[in-house]
Amino acid sequence: MINLLIMGKPGAGKGTQSTKLLKHYQLTHISTGNIYRDEIKKGSAIGIEAKKYLDQGNLVPDKMTNDIVWEILKQKNYPDGFMLDGYPRTRTQAEALDQMLARLNIGLTAVINVEVKDEVLLHRMAGRRVCPNCGHTYHTENHPPKLEGVCDHCGQGLIQRPDDLEESVMNRLAIYNEKTKPLLDYYSEKGLLTVIDGEQSTNKVFQDIIKILGEK
Ligand code: ADP
Ligand code: ADP
Ligand code: ZN
Repeated sequence: MINLLIMGKPGAGKGTQSTKLLKHYQLTHISTGNIYRDEIKKGSAIGIEAKKYLDQGNLVPDKMTNDIVWEILKQKNYPDGFMLDGYPRTRTQAEALDQMLARLNIGLTAVINVEVKDEVLLHRMAGRRVCPNCGHTYHTENHPPKLEGVCDHCGQGLIQRPDDLEESVMNRLAIYNEKTKPLLDYYSEKGLLTVIDGEQSTNKVFQDIIKILGEK
């Protein structure tokens, strides 16, 4: 059982690595960003509320996010473990997560921080294209689809996330520095944190993470 937390600035490659890790270790993916995007697509009450924050690149309030994560964690539907991606993002969320895990009598196996410098992140977010149907992520230069603008997996036309436009991106990086970055110390003090060089190729980053977690 591996209970993993993957961290990194927006565009660091968390989603890309998650896809590979989930397959490798059969983990259950808990991505609050994906959950919010799905709710927005469905037009649910949560989605309508969350959209106000996502489009601007602001964080959804902690209470709402913590409640969503608890609903998932408490179902204990992760036989081989889970991977948290995009959560926690604030000190309040990290403390809430600790309480949830304590209640369930489980702990985190590792916290991995995928480190990438800002100029590389800006290039990654500018070129990021996603499939609105299956969620697969591409990059116009780094990981282009076989046919330009079309998802390899399902044939749907690719889109650019509204929050990947310049203004939102700068806001997200500023919020990360203010609210999320302090969590690195939080997990480092608990002896859980490992830093990975996220500027390497996707495969090399993946190999480095596997070295930490061990072959399954
Ligand atoms: P990225 O891929 O850029 O790291 P995510 O897909 O994780 O971003 O999140 C997209 C957006 O969803 C965030 O900018 C924020 O508005 C919202 N969101 C996701 N996770 C959280 C969270 N843990 N707390 C608050 N808001 C969140
Ligand atoms: P996050 O979930 O952390 O916001 P993503 O996994 O969506 O990040 O990656 C952001 C963009 O960078 C995507 O367009 C993705 O294809 C690309 N990307 C991810 N990892 C790498 C890498 N190691 N090298 C080059 N480009 C990458
Ligand atoms: Zn697709």
